[in-house]
Amino acid sequence: MPRSLDLLAALVAPGRCLHCRGPAERGAALLCDPCRARLPWLPVDGCARCGLPRPCPPGRCPARGAAFAAAWAPLAYEGPARALAIAGKERSARRVAPWFAAAMVARAPAAVVEGAAAVVAVPADPVRGRRRGEDHAALLADGVATALGVPVLRALVRTRSATAQHLQDRAGRARAVPPSVVVRPPDRVLLVDDVHTTGATLRACATALRDGGARRVGVLTALRTLR
Ligand SMILES: [Zn+2]
Ligand SMILES: [Zn+2]
Repeated sequence: MPRSLDLLAALVAPGRCLHCRGPAERGAALLCDPCRARLPWLPVDGCARCGLPRPCPPGRCPARGAAFAAAWAPLAYEGPARALAIAGKERSARRVAPWFAAAMVARAPAAVVEGAAAVVAVPADPVRGRRRGEDHAALLADGVATALGVPVLRALVRTRSATAQHLQDRAGRARAVPPSVVVRPPDRVLLVDDVHTTGATLRACATALRDGGARRVGVLTALRTLR
């Protein structure tokens, strides 16, 4: 639905919870009160490196060897948070992205955001991005940058599609097509994406930023898969 129609629908129809589809009492609320109470918030004192909710055993962190220094997400990719993410991809990106951006900034650990002079979004896949319309990582990056009072830097572009080459298989995603650096990043950069899954894409982007001149990259995503 175009944005104007989406907003109009929210005004004239009682809001529906994006998870259970029940009534969301407060006008423009994304979730009903029970679903909001079940949001899977993540702690800020888990593994500082990979963002999992518990410290990783020595040598077993999935982010070991990654070019990013620290990663965190406010929510697990589960339950009502997963429903919000899916709604954000399908039709409600411009309603959901500001909500996620606010949650990302509100409790982000200092190790992730402190000193960041610019926010860089993980670039959309040229094929997948075109198919879906909205660029979710870019919307999140805009919200995060505004809240932190730093600029968004369109430093990365992806010219080759992962879909065309690897048919989206698991191994293909793990390989991740490295993006190109088109603007020299500052010393400290905050890399933003919607979901931190295997971390392969975030690793590829952080490596590109480091190779392009950044000395420290923090990773902030809206959601983190726990398996
Ligand atoms: Zn609900
Ligand atoms: Zn870890």
